[in-house]
Amino acid sequence: MSPCQSCGACCATYRVTLHSDEIDDMPGGRVPAGLTEPIGAQLACMRGKAGAPWRCIALRGRIGDAVSCAIYEFRPQACREFAPLAAVSRGDEACDDARRRHRLPPLRPLAA
Ligand code: SF4
Ligand code: SF4
Repeated sequence: MSPCQSCGACCATYRVTLHSDEIDDMPGGRVPAGLTEPIGAQLACMRGKAGAPWRCIALRGRIGDAVSCAIYEFRPQACREFAPLAAVSRGDEACDDARRRHRLPPLRPLAA
């Protein structure tokens, strides 16, 4: 099982920005429009749940316990590219920072 399935820290730390072409009201777009908000002519971001700290509206579950992305198959490119080795327990600086903010230990560091 990927450690991401019992984490979710990045989804409640970094606000995800995406190109408007990724949204499903554009040809070929897949990210549900209703879960995004525009931040400019060509950019949008994932909406957050009300309250602080920021948490992506598509994140389900409890951080550090059991989580899932409600739009996993259609998630933005930025989500797909974040900490690409985390699924095999190899984090990076951004992953470690997000986990630290949620009082979770870093994943195994990348080998030198
Ligand atoms: S990429 Fe890192 S911070 Fe994000 S869910 Fe996976 S382990 Fe957690
Ligand atoms: S879209 Fe999914 S993977 Fe991306 S930040 Fe939101 S919950 Fe996390």
